[in-house]
Amino acid sequence: MKPISRRIFLSISTATAVVGVNQLLASCGNNQSDTSTSPSPDTTTTPAEGELNLYSSRHYNTDEELYQGFTKETGVKVNLIEGKDDELIERIQSEGENTPADILITVDIGRLWRAQEAGIFTPVSSTILTEKIPPALRDPEGNWFGFTKRARVIMYNKDKVKPEELSTYENLAVPKWKGRFIVRSSGNIYNQSLVASLIEAHGEAKTEEWCKGLVENFAREPQSNDTGQIQDVAAGVGDLTLANTYYLARFAKSEDPVKQEVYQKIGLFFPNQNDRGTHVNISGAGVVKTSKNQENAVKFLEYLASDKAQEFFAQGNNEYPVVEGITLDPVLEGFGTFKADETNIASFGPNLATAVKVMDRAGWK
Ligand code: FE
Repeated sequence: MKPISRRIFLSISTATAVVGVNQLLASCGNNQSDTSTSPSPDTTTTPAEGELNLYSSRHYNTDEELYQGFTKETGVKVNLIEGKDDELIERIQSEGENTPADILITVDIGRLWRAQEAGIFTPVSSTILTEKIPPALRDPEGNWFGFTKRARVIMYNKDKVKPEELSTYENLAVPKWKGRFIVRSSGNIYNQSLVASLIEAHGEAKTEEWCKGLVENFAREPQSNDTGQIQDVAAGVGDLTLANTYYLARFAKSEDPVKQEVYQKIGLFFPNQNDRGTHVNISGAGVVKTSKNQENAVKFLEYLASDKAQEFFAQGNNEYPVVEGITLDPVLEGFGTFKADETNIASFGPNLATAVKVMDRAGWK
């Protein structure tokens, strides 16, 4: 079967001002497996009709299969252009009006907000999207929509902490946890968005106080990523941490006995079940303002909200679908049900700059 999507990793250093996808493929030392499509002279600035250029920071093979499903349904060819989140935003900005990008797919409200602030998106009005995607997980003006969600939860060493001792994010800042808590740096967008959600719930001053308490409890200077925190909690470097659910799911599914051992040591706790709920974040997408294929772009977003696509898209990264009633991955099912914070995630965006300042003032490196 002829591959439908072509993939390429972009680096910002290869940015050129005006390019079509075929040129990108020709000029970037691409690693796509499909060599059957030759560059067309007609696509220098405008992609051919019936094509869609997807700028995505997701790198899962299952996504490609999913996009092929869209092509089968609609005949619209999907060109996948992969890159790192912030690079893709910068890329679209530097390409300006001539960007071939039709859709930007990225993770975390922090980045969707950044893209929105940069004026990359155009508002989309679609009954399918507004009916299927819960209001808390999309921009009220339709600039972007969440297609999967992940919870940022407490993960703890089962030998050191009992779940009865845990309750809320707020509780992580009490002296009981002094020298026992580890977390990644404040430069990480997941932490920034979580702090932005606390600012939304409590205001700046109280959140800063919370951050200070949390920093007091650090067992070490922030370092590594979510996976590293989980491994280090299992190893006893700290007793508890904050991490996104899909990272633990990866350990659960790993056939590596070392990772299995880590998984067996870790407990997962959904904070704030008796008040506003656990902080959830999204991976999401929006239609690029200058897209020449807006109709197909909206169709594509609607496709991502379809039941089959939801299941696939979520499972690609062990995430939760946003649409109700979709079969959950068995590992996530095993994590149990939880109450999610239903504050509109869009409201965290304007708090992000303050969140960074608050963390900085509190000494969260
Ligand atoms: Fe991640």
